[in-house]
Parts: sequence; structure tokens; C-alpha cells
Amino acid sequence: MKIAVDMDGTLTSAPSLFGQLIRDLREKGNYVALLTGQLDSGLPSLEDRQQQLRGLGIEVDAILLAKGSSDPMSHLWTCGQEKARMVREGGFDVFIDDRASFCNLVKLRNPDVLVLQIVAEDPFAGPGR
Ligand SMILES: [Mg+2]
Repeated sequence: MKIAVDMDGTLTSAPSLFGQLIRDLREKGNYVALLTGQLDSGLPSLEDRQQQLRGLGIEVDAILLAKGSSDPMSHLWTCGQEKARMVREGGFDVFIDDRASFCNLVKLRNPDVLVLQIVAEDPFAGPGR
């Protein structure tokens, strides 16, 4: 299986649990990618995300950056569309994210994908939350 997991508000909401889950999934041969947002300014950068994952003690097979707008209102649409496209083109089976609008867009564009929404409060959540 191919699983795409968001960072802000998702992995960051329960890093040790997600770390264990991702480790177990990868040990069983599943492919787990971080699929996270990036503003059109290029931030957070790939290096920022690599460092963030190291800090959380989580290893993934790939880091995918879904570009969105720096404008918070447009970001919800542009980043969501990008996540939906990347899920489709990456052939992912499972999408995990804390943002309902992203989950809905991914499901709309990828009806066969299992979409799981994380419900959590997170002080480290990204822009526009
Ligand atoms: Mg999020």
C-alpha cells in the first residue's frame, strides 16, 4: 500500500504514535510519504521538512511538497488541489490529513482512496489553520 501523511496538525499532533505506526507500516513493506503543504514562497523548504522529521524521529520513503498560495484563503484551494493531484499521480491508497477541506478535495478527485481525517488541536499547525 502507498500511504500519504500530512505534517502540520497530523504528524505533529501525535509524533510518537505516528512514528510507531509509520515504522510498522514500512517494516511490512508499505510505502509511506510525507505529503505536506508549502507556500508559494518556497517555505517551509524540503530541508526544513527533513529537519522537522528528524526532530520528530520519523523516517519516510519520500517527502512531497504540495504548493499552495501565500494568501491564506487561496491556500486552502490551491494546496488542496495540489494534494489531490499528487495523491492521484502518486497512486496512493490512503491519505491522512487534519484539514477537512483537503480531505474532501482528495476524496472528490480520488474516490477509491481511503481518506482519514485527524482531529486534533496543534499549536504547531501551519498557516491558514
Ligand atoms: Mg495539516
